[in-house]
Amino acid sequence: MTVDTNTVVSLQYKLTNHKTGEHIEETSKDQPMEFLYGIERIIPTFEVNIHGLKAGDTFEFSIPTLEAYGEKNDEHVAIIPLSVFFDESGKIDETQINVGAVLPMTDNDGNHLRGTILEMTDDTITMDFNHPLAGTDLFFQGSILEVRQATDEEIAHGHSHGAHGHHH
Ligand SMILES: [Zn+2]
Repeated sequence: MTVDTNTVVSLQYKLTNHKTGEHIEETSKDQPMEFLYGIERIIPTFEVNIHGLKAGDTFEFSIPTLEAYGEKNDEHVAIIPLSVFFDESGKIDETQINVGAVLPMTDNDGNHLRGTILEMTDDTITMDFNHPLAGTDLFFQGSILEVRQATDEEIAHGHSHGAHGHHH
């Protein structure tokens, strides 16, 4: 079976910065990436590059910034009053709130975002809501471990089930 819409793909990969060679992440041996091809939200160019592969095939390709997470956008950097981050006692928990920390946040429309703290002053925190990989050309190397037909239930749910997929 080859990778196509409505198959469940299990693969392992290593991701590096294509320009600098810097290591970004890789799957561990006992925890491959598994997803429902064409349905779960994977970078479209990533899907195009593994289309038609089968178990045992290897892959190696780059994805330019604009087809990955886009350029960093200054409008996604916000200055937020420090009081937003106070705990019940009106203080900042410095073990959680510090420069470089990545925190789950909610915007005015209720969307969940992750923000990275860039700077802290006595009364504000500057937070970057750009995707951590914004502005980065990606380079993937890896191999396909398994390709199988998705079950009707997986297609109805829009995600893979099973050993490394969605559990519920
Ligand atoms: Zn499900």
